[in-house]
Amino acid sequence: MLVEIVKLGITHLMVGTCALCLTADCELRESHYMPAALYPKNQKLELLPRVPGQTEVEEITMPLLCARCEHRFNKRGESEVLRHIAAKIANKPSPLVPKLETLTVLEGDETLKSYCGSDAGLNMDMFAYFALSMAWRGIHSWPRTGRPDLTPICLGLYREPIRRFLAEETIDFPAEASVIVIACTDKISREAWFLPSQRDDVWFHDVRMLALGVFFRVLLGRSVPDVLMRDSCHAVGKRIHVGDASKRTRESLDYTESLTA
Ligand SMILES: [Zn+2]
Repeated sequence: MLVEIVKLGITHLMVGTCALCLTADCELRESHYMPAALYPKNQKLELLPRVPGQTEVEEITMPLLCARCEHRFNKRGESEVLRHIAAKIANKPSPLVPKLETLTVLEGDETLKSYCGSDAGLNMDMFAYFALSMAWRGIHSWPRTGRPDLTPICLGLYREPIRRFLAEETIDFPAEASVIVIACTDKISREAWFLPSQRDDVWFHDVRMLALGVFFRVLLGRSVPDVLMRDSCHAVGKRIHVGDASKRTRESLDYTESLTA
């Protein structure tokens, strides 16, 4: 992506092509990879990734989107989803859990229970949009301070359908895509977040992300098991799951660390 800094008096504008709507020569915003609201203010969360030697969590940003696309991301998913998981509620029980636990369990075992999110008044399509937008942000090479740029996520054949859906060029949800959402009951998952990370040990795209007590998985591919397609928050049942995700969180934190070591 070509980005130029144009000096207009004292104002510095980043001008380039918006990565989402592909409009050329527009002013680009300093876009966040992880939404700014997820960075806790005045809270000590031991598990957040830090730059070695620094106490603050690094906010990863770059000029990526035009103002319209930033607004689109907010309106279509981010602001609604973040209402349920904003940093100010980290360390405390997730507000999603009590809201869901009063509902009928659709399915469940001792670790995970499934509910219909829309029965709790949740807009699950916004959760799906938000998760896809996070996976899509991951296809870019984000710069970090004092460390190499992040390795881009590969979405293969799904990259363009996802971009078109997110840019509202089509209303069709990408085919062969599932978004799994888990509201976590365990402490470790509530105190951590990690950037989208891609598993390479399965025959489909599997991108995982944690946002202070809400665990997201974006699955893409023909070989995604039927049960995981059905469990998608975007599928007919509008499912959301509640459970202890500490094992998944620990695994993913270890996995992410092993990639960046
Ligand atoms: Zn745009």
